[in-house]
Amino acid sequence: MSGSRNADAHLPPADRKPPTADSPVSSSLVIQTSFLGDAILTTPLIAELATRGPVDVVTTPSAAPLLANNPAIREVLPFAKRGADAGPLGLWRFARKLAARAYDAAYLAQGSHRSGALARLAGIPERAGFDSSGGRVWYTRRVRHDRSQHHAERLWRLAAGDDTPAPQLRPRLYPGDADRAAVDALLRDLPHDGATLVALAPGSIWGTKRWPHFPELAARIAPLHRIVVLGAADDAPLAAAIVAAAGASRVVDTTGRLTLLGSAALLARCAALVTNDSAPLHLASATNTPTVAIFGPTVPAFGFGPLAMRRATVGLDTLSCRPCDSHGPQKCPLGHWQCMRDLPVQRLVDSVVELTATR
Ligand code: SF4
Repeated sequence: MSGSRNADAHLPPADRKPPTADSPVSSSLVIQTSFLGDAILTTPLIAELATRGPVDVVTTPSAAPLLANNPAIREVLPFAKRGADAGPLGLWRFARKLAARAYDAAYLAQGSHRSGALARLAGIPERAGFDSSGGRVWYTRRVRHDRSQHHAERLWRLAAGDDTPAPQLRPRLYPGDADRAAVDALLRDLPHDGATLVALAPGSIWGTKRWPHFPELAARIAPLHRIVVLGAADDAPLAAAIVAAAGASRVVDTTGRLTLLGSAALLARCAALVTNDSAPLHLASATNTPTVAIFGPTVPAFGFGPLAMRRATVGLDTLSCRPCDSHGPQKCPLGHWQCMRDLPVQRLVDSVVELTATR
């Protein structure tokens, strides 16, 4: 099963043509149990597969809510690989559940042995994954992992193949009414003074990816914009520092107060986002929110840069130790952390001014 059968597969499913006689219906299972950003970047692959037939998605319990309301997905199946579904017995039980659904093909968007074995144990006859994946021994079709491509395109090519020209790929998320209502409630008390909203996302699960100068950036842009701080509950201390620097009247701290889709709904109302190389970057790609992405120990060439139409990436390109890790270590192995410490606030201010001025 290869080759793109529907040239408008990148469009929202409602805008696309249904499967036709020359594209026989085929049921697909996508297995994506990596990080939140990876789940977002898998949505173009899911949309492509939905042109061929029903698509179910196995993902982590934390990523499952991100895929809610997606009209390209028949069912999201949370797989607690470190919880109830852990170990050989958990894997076997989950595989039996999948086997009952008799999928035609599995797409291994996450490349571990566990994911590959899950598809094999479920008896899925076609199993496509990357030729570089640890679990490739389980695959019946290995797709080239091209490091020069954006990861959204790499994932999409699991279904589309190597030869199809890539359309303008964009991840898609579908916030619901409750997500939008939560945003309304958070913004209700903001003065209607015409100031645009700029979102700041200062967190990351990787310590060296957290640019430490968000408070100073917030203080510099606060006279021009209202600021919203995005993040999980764990990011509250980072948000508190931003509020202290920019002033409580200019900042709305939403950390821990919105669902992931709620954060996407909020981003859709923002003139720009400034973010580390972390999940909010990919939320903004889905909402096409102008994005300034900060890269320290990682680089955009890894394939995880922003996809919004208006975007900028900022990093110390001449620093010889960059990149030092595919994710970003918790602590700088050299101890100086220059990739983030020495990244000047003015470069971020300039990028925000540029992206918001052309809006
Ligand atoms: S080694 Fe270099 S790139 Fe890696 S965290 Fe330290 S300063 Fe950043």
